[in-house]
Parts: sequence; structure tokens; C-alpha cells
Amino acid sequence: MSRYTGPVCRLCRRETAKLFLKGNKCYTACILDKGIRKSAPGMHVRSRRAKTSEYAKRLREKQKTKRIAGLTEQQFRHYFRKAQIMPGLTGENLLRLLETRLDHVVRRMGFALSEPHARQMVFHGHVQVNDQRVDIPSYAVQPGDRIGLSEAMRQNGAVQQAIQATQKRGPLPTWLETNPSHASGKMRSWPTREEISYPVDEQLIVELYSK
Ligand code: SF4
Repeated sequence: MSRYTGPVCRLCRRETAKLFLKGNKCYTACILDKGIRKSAPGMHVRSRRAKTSEYAKRLREKQKTKRIAGLTEQQFRHYFRKAQIMPGLTGENLLRLLETRLDHVVRRMGFALSEPHARQMVFHGHVQVNDQRVDIPSYAVQPGDRIGLSEAMRQNGAVQQAIQATQKRGPLPTWLETNPSHASGKMRSWPTREEISYPVDEQLIVELYSK
């Protein structure tokens, strides 16, 4: 299945949760915060709500995670299979793999307004890992890796806006460190479960795929 390219606020309404897919607007002008169009999209919302089965709960948790990460079903399943063969808990492994994708790390460091913005910067070759240009958004960042932006991108208006907005929101998680004036940073360690930004119950995803 191809990537979703429609209105992203619709996805938040469907999951009845803020997925932060639209950059700064998610913090300043979110339709869910304002109470505008809070209900799920579509004509048959009521009948869908009445039938919340165990399967539906697990499915929604998986869809939410997949949509935050901006992945297709196939890509998401690939990550799940990878998480299954890693030592440790499958659910935690899955979230850790998603959290340490290069596009996600760029966003978490505050150099991009949203996940799609971060992905586009990587894809266009504006992101460097250990001083080497990397244009693969799914690149798996490792502890000790240094992340930086190209010279042109450091002065970019949207990047500067993202850096300022991130600084206002408070400190970064301890597994990351950044130098905002130089638009660079480093991944210190693997994130713990508490430090992972996905607001999901990963156990429900494991149960869904274990059926
Ligand atoms: Fe979701 Fe952001 Fe739209 Fe709010 S503004 S509904 S968080 S995409």
C-alpha cells in the first residue's frame, strides 16, 4: 500500500489522539485542542464506536504507531520482524527501532518542524551522520553517532523556526545532546522506554501480529 498523502489532521481524528504530524501548528492551533471536529472522520462514526472489540483496540494502536512514524504497512511489518529477532522485549525493540530512525532523530533534536519535514531534509541530502551525507530516512542511528545539517540548511528559515520552537518546549531527552547554534547533535545512548516519544501501548501491537 502506498504512503498516505491526504489531510493529516484527519488521521489524528481517526485515532482520537494528537499524532503531531503538522509541525508547530500541532502546538499552537490544533483542531483537537480547540474542540473543533473532535469526532472521527466519516459518516458512520457512532456505529464504529459501539463495536470496539479487542481486535479493534490492537489495530488502532498499530495504526497510530504506523501513522506517527509515517510508514507503510510493509515497512512497519519489516520493523516488527526485525524487533522479533532482537534480544529483549519485541514491543520495546520495535519502538526503539522507530525512535532511532534518522528522520525521527533529526526531528527529536529539534531541527525539523515535523516528521515529514525531517524526512524531506534527509531525502534531499541535507543531513550528515559523522560528517558523511546520508540520504536514507530509515538509516538506523547508533549511540555515538554525530548528526549535522548541511551549511545551507543551518541558515534555513524553517530549520531556525524549528530550533527555536524546540528550545521553548523544554530540555531534550537525555539520550540526545545538541548544539542548536550549530544545528548539530549526538546520540548519547539507546533511549529507555520512558524516553521513547511514541504514546502507544506496544504490547497491543505485539498481540495483534502474534495472532
Ligand atoms: Fe494532529 Fe497536528 Fe492536526 Fe492537531 S494540528 S490534529 S496534532 S496533525
